[in-house]
Amino acid sequence: MNGIFKEKVAVVTGASRGIGRGIALELAEAGVDIAIIYRTEEDKAGEVASLISKMGRKVIAIKCDVSDDDDVVRMHDAVMKKFGKVNFLINNAGIHQHLKSWELGEEDWHRVMDVNVTGTFLVTKAFTPHMIEKKSGRIVNISSCVAFTGTDHEVHYAASKGAVFSLTKSLALELAQYGINVNAIAPGYIETDMVVFDGVHDRGTVLKTIPQHRLGQPIDIGRAVRFLCSEDSNYITGQVIHVNGGLIMY
Ligand code: NDP
Repeated sequence: MNGIFKEKVAVVTGASRGIGRGIALELAEAGVDIAIIYRTEEDKAGEVASLISKMGRKVIAIKCDVSDDDDVVRMHDAVMKKFGKVNFLINNAGIHQHLKSWELGEEDWHRVMDVNVTGTFLVTKAFTPHMIEKKSGRIVNISSCVAFTGTDHEVHYAASKGAVFSLTKSLALELAQYGINVNAIAPGYIETDMVVFDGVHDRGTVLKTIPQHRLGQPIDIGRAVRFLCSEDSNYITGQVIHVNGGLIMY
């Protein structure tokens, strides 16, 4: 266990599976106590909690729809009751939907914006007063490479992830004076339930576009999050780290 993470607490949204699970396990491995936030997959959240508990960390799993303000307030209260503090907030929960822009209904548009953008905002708003009071904290928002490249099959998702990055920069500006760093990670293709290979995007074609010739794994994002929560990143705020095997380069 890394000493600097001892007795630190992280809230990780969307931690029942995929990238959020990888982030929660990586932080727990480093010594952080974890609040796992999930929406529907209670059993999977319980499995992650059990793994973290076996590592000797404190852990709680809380059901919460991040796009519902009342739910978020209840979740915040449950986290504070259990741990009494939060050092790291990882806004990872997100949804997507493969549809062309002309196939999108207004409801589709709003649901993706509600979860990916409003959810990130609501959870951040719930925890920043505590971080401001403590004059310290780290917030990491999970954006996406498509926020920077665009995409030809889910414009609402790309727009939502662009908004997550704009939100990150503005929060970094507001919160720097309180010792709170806010950064984003833009993953490329990470092997989770979200990455669906179909006739249009098959695995082989996708792999040819990635210089490292492999899909990312949740732990690749977990390691970047751990860095952004560590003292090694003290002077980094308002930035995005691209974790994509070279898929896009700036
Ligand atoms: P998954 O679909 O595998 O997992 C999504 C997670 O988000 C689940 O834990 C799910 O909970 C949770 N979730 C969904 N909606 C809500 C909600 N309304 N409230 C609370 N939790 C919710 O996705 P990934 O792990 O692949 O993606 C994680 C993040 O990374 C997302 O923000 C995604 O946009 C981003 N990303 C992923 C990429 C990839 O290649 N996989 C690439 C770029 C970005 P439950 O299990 O309970 O349903």
